[in-house]
Amino acid sequence: MRQRFTARAVVVGDHAGTVVPDAAVDVEDGTLTWVGPAADAPDAGDAEVVAVPGVLLPGLVNAHSHAPMVLFRGQAEGLPLARWLREVIWPREARLTPEDVEVAMTAASAEMLRGGVTTSVEMYFSPERIAAAVGRTGARAVVATPLLPLPGMPPLAEQLADAVTLATSAPGDGAVEYGIGPHAAYTLPLPVLRDAAAAAREHGLLLHLHVAETAGEGADLLATHGLSVPALLAAHDVLGGRVLAAHSVHVDDGDLELWREYDVAVAHCPASNAKLASGIAPVRAMLDRGVRVGLGTDGPASNDGLDLLADVRLAAGLARLREGSATALTAAEAFWLATGGAADAIGRPDLGQVAVGRRADLVHVDTRDLAFEPVLDPMDLLTHLVWSGTSRLVRDTWVGGRQVVRDGVCTTVDAEALRADVAERATRLAGPAG
Ligand SMILES: [Zn+2]
Repeated sequence: MRQRFTARAVVVGDHAGTVVPDAAVDVEDGTLTWVGPAADAPDAGDAEVVAVPGVLLPGLVNAHSHAPMVLFRGQAEGLPLARWLREVIWPREARLTPEDVEVAMTAASAEMLRGGVTTSVEMYFSPERIAAAVGRTGARAVVATPLLPLPGMPPLAEQLADAVTLATSAPGDGAVEYGIGPHAAYTLPLPVLRDAAAAAREHGLLLHLHVAETAGEGADLLATHGLSVPALLAAHDVLGGRVLAAHSVHVDDGDLELWREYDVAVAHCPASNAKLASGIAPVRAMLDRGVRVGLGTDGPASNDGLDLLADVRLAAGLARLREGSATALTAAEAFWLATGGAADAIGRPDLGQVAVGRRADLVHVDTRDLAFEPVLDPMDLLTHLVWSGTSRLVRDTWVGGRQVVRDGVCTTVDAEALRADVAERATRLAGPAG
């Protein structure tokens, strides 16, 4: 199937922040085959023509999420992390069924598509149910099977073996890819991390873990081993291959040097880090060292949104506050962190940019809104997108050329029925004491 999109402008999603005004985009069988000014476009032939009045963006890539936690959104707002986990999250998760995960992920995936997010990296229980949910909505996901020493879960070696079996049996069609998600160095024995990393390297899988989210989490490890968490991971052969470290808030120059040396990518989650008062990650220092960085929402129980475009603005604002400089992170760079930069960070060069050879994951944002005026230069469209635009202005979303959001409504699933289902399940999971 061939499609020709025309738009007021295309925002490419590259590091330079390229905006192509009066643009045309050709798609063949879900892949981008031509991008440029409409005036220079080849003959469209018999392609289906889709003319959008606003801007076309690449589908956003959410580099760190636990999206089924929409079931716990906003619960126990304001509790410190340890009490929030012990009193609110763990009792609910103990009651969680695979069916709950699938329904919640389906609803969350539809919510993300509506907000222009076409791919997310997920780390949560019942990974095959997460994949099934994404199959229903038409989105993409990299699903990192969590490894966690929780009561009721199999021994860690068995969890790892199951994760590898699942990952190596995936179809490899670009829609769902499985990775391995050892939770963190402070929750898992180091040999488990080492084995998980070896398995990930052997099979080319994404290894996704939390690193240095809070100031205190590395203190015990530092006292025991005399090493920071990144140095500990390096010393235990956990780094190398496709490693994606969520957060990396409390890291020093030596840690970042290790990230550069081992090409560890960072999933930067500014909204979650702000809500939980974890701190502000040194994004500028990471980028200056050539560390790959992508933006993530983190779970909707600690953000509380799945609105990656909102987090682009927050990332730019927080980086500027941290460095005390209005040039610390440009609007173009901030947007890139949610598109091309995020695709690089998760090791998926087929995603994240409106560029020839990449998958046709496209988002149409309506610019007939005061938030998008004035436009004296095409770059203003990108500036407005970051500083005054909102995901509410996403009108249409395509994944691999297939339309999954039309006029602001997800067309692949019944979002209203899912909302009611999530509400009912969330009430049950809250338990008798509610
Ligand atoms: Zn997380």
